[in-house]
Amino acid sequence: KTSISPLRKINKTINSYALSKNKEIETLQKNAEFRREFIADISHELKTPIFAAQGFIHTLLDGAVDDDEVRYKFLKRAAKSLNSLDKLVQDLLTLNQMESGVIKFHFEQFDLKDVLLEVIDELEHKAEKRDVLIRFYYDKEKTFLTSADRDKIFRVCQNLISNAIKYNHDGGEVEVRLNSNKNQQIVDVKDNGKGIPPEDLKRIFERFYRVDKSRSREKGGTGLGLAIVKHILEAHKSKISVSSTLGKGSVFSFSLAADK
Ligand code: ADP
Repeated sequence: KTSISPLRKINKTINSYALSKNKEIETLQKNAEFRREFIADISHELKTPIFAAQGFIHTLLDGAVDDDEVRYKFLKRAAKSLNSLDKLVQDLLTLNQMESGVIKFHFEQFDLKDVLLEVIDELEHKAEKRDVLIRFYYDKEKTFLTSADRDKIFRVCQNLISNAIKYNHDGGEVEVRLNSNKNQQIVDVKDNGKGIPPEDLKRIFERFYRVDKSRSREKGGTGLGLAIVKHILEAHKSKISVSSTLGKGSVFSFSLAADK
């Protein structure tokens, strides 16, 4: 019987130690790279509304301020850019707090139908402006009880329905469906907008990823909405799914555990 010599044993230990240290270094390098990329992305995103607001204000200072009509138009545009900046910073804070686990989730029992009714009521005005019709289908005889963080789920529904309006064409339709089976309450948000190209579908949940940057910004988007949605649903042991056909529209779905 051959036994491993003490020297070989030591060598083996050293090798596996070196291997694990290498892995640690690799992880640290990846984290540093992630942070660098994140900061580069944020700086770029912050610059856009700041430059825009600066541009409008400098044009006013250069003389446009004397023209009543131009003054009003430019001040309104500068205000819009600052609103985008505010929304971006708020979304960033939310995402950061979620990723670092600072945000606590408060679970309570509620009826998912009530949340959807509230969200639709809040977004009706935005839809009307674009002549978009929101239809809500659910069985009025049923309750759709779940135990979840109500405010966060409100936010999920708000993001999905708001996107379905934003990325729809004027006069389009949004269909919200609430169904249930024995274990789950299931929400589908369908639009008949322009759809999402297959190569972009996987990436739309990444922070700052947009299919059409200028359209998203124009509509006041921060590119963080779906990343936040994904995080919230993960905290509920759920996930978001999407299917889309170019030129026809998209369906975003998620489900929550049903309370008996
Ligand atoms: P944004 O603030 O840009 O709307 P989101 O994270 O909510 O950010 O969405 C990311 C991107 O996914 C959007 O910029 C858009 O390109 C695409 N998207 C999201 N929802 C839809 C939809 N219903 N139809 C088409 N594209 C969508």
